[in-house]
Amino acid sequence: MRDPVKDLRPWRDAEKSLREITREYPSFPKLIALKIDAQRRGVVYTPKALAAVDPTVHMTTVRSDYYDKEDLSPVSLILDDGTTVFTEGVLADIGLEPYVVDHDGRNAYLLDNDAPLARVSYWEKPAYYAKTTAKGRPMWQVVSARPQRLTIHPHQYCDFWKKPGQGCRFCVMATNYKAYGKEARLLVEDIIETVGEAVKEPGGYQSVFLTGGTILSGATPLDDELELYLAILKGIGPLFGGQKFPSQLISTAFSLPQLARLKAETGLTSYTADLEVLDAELFKWICPGKSRLIGYEGWKDRLAAAVGLFGRGRVNTGIVAGVELAKPKGFKSEEEALNATLKEARSLAERGVFVVSCVWRVMTGSVFARQRPPSLEYYVRLALGLDAIRREYGFLADMDNYRRCGNHADTDLARI
Ligand code: SF4
Repeated sequence: MRDPVKDLRPWRDAEKSLREITREYPSFPKLIALKIDAQRRGVVYTPKALAAVDPTVHMTTVRSDYYDKEDLSPVSLILDDGTTVFTEGVLADIGLEPYVVDHDGRNAYLLDNDAPLARVSYWEKPAYYAKTTAKGRPMWQVVSARPQRLTIHPHQYCDFWKKPGQGCRFCVMATNYKAYGKEARLLVEDIIETVGEAVKEPGGYQSVFLTGGTILSGATPLDDELELYLAILKGIGPLFGGQKFPSQLISTAFSLPQLARLKAETGLTSYTADLEVLDAELFKWICPGKSRLIGYEGWKDRLAAAVGLFGRGRVNTGIVAGVELAKPKGFKSEEEALNATLKEARSLAERGVFVVSCVWRVMTGSVFARQRPPSLEYYVRLALGLDAIRREYGFLADMDNYRRCGNHADTDLARI
């Protein structure tokens, strides 16, 4: 059988290097380009870099919907300008050499081809990570912390995976769930108790983010997913004080009555439902479960309805940038993919919805595990394009920027 990875030309010859990109796009911050490339290619640690990890200080454990680990490597990295580099998950071996993290006894550095490119730090863990809930659950398993915010994954399985062929092709939630044999749902009491501990910490966490796998059940589809988020948001809201609190939910796209309850019964400030890819035909191929349940146009209509409730700049949709080039059904060239994606992002902006992109980190255990993400240049151009659309339409994206999220290169550009 043809091996699509081995058939590719050596990747360094086939695309522009980080140095060439930073020369060609001088307005694009070098550290954000480095973040993109490190997320795309992955990182490995030298023995010296691992020896510098202090598990009493650094974050080494994570339990989330996509990734669980308890070894002694850092969960993720942060660059000197505050740019966060997410390195969570097990990247598939797709032939792109990873960056190397090394340590000289004083500092850690990101290296490529043996050349140090930037100093990095390991994420530090908050004090609540050492505590347990009244029910005996370690708090680090309940709520994870980024430098910017608290993250809650209350449902760590996705009902789309219960029917063969319905899960999204880039997704590893079901693989991860099965590998770790964990319970699918967290207890709401554990979540409220853990957030209560986290917000007590000095300089504390001031915003919270919830997401998890789809729950299809309920009197109408997704009602049980809605009830879970309602219970959590109602429970943690008072811990932040005030009627509304800086919070973001990424759920399956709720119907208008479901969205109306979310708005009326909680202090949620930002709503997201991820389209993953901005093309109707590719959505059908890549996200078959979402497509059958709601459909591409139906998903967009629900996002637009959310704008009517939460307001402009408070509703967005996430894309796994690069899957639009997956073979064999994706766009045939980066130019075509870029034009189509930005055109669709603009049409969503017309309806009050902005788009944020994540780098497609090709994961072991996903249907797409033998694909390869597009070039660094593609991601740089996409980030510039999405940032330009947001500025043109006046979206602040304040729950998704480098201060409160840190996951998206395009919203990292908001600092400029
Ligand atoms: S909706 Fe798609 S991306 Fe989200 S958890 Fe389910 S399968 Fe994964």
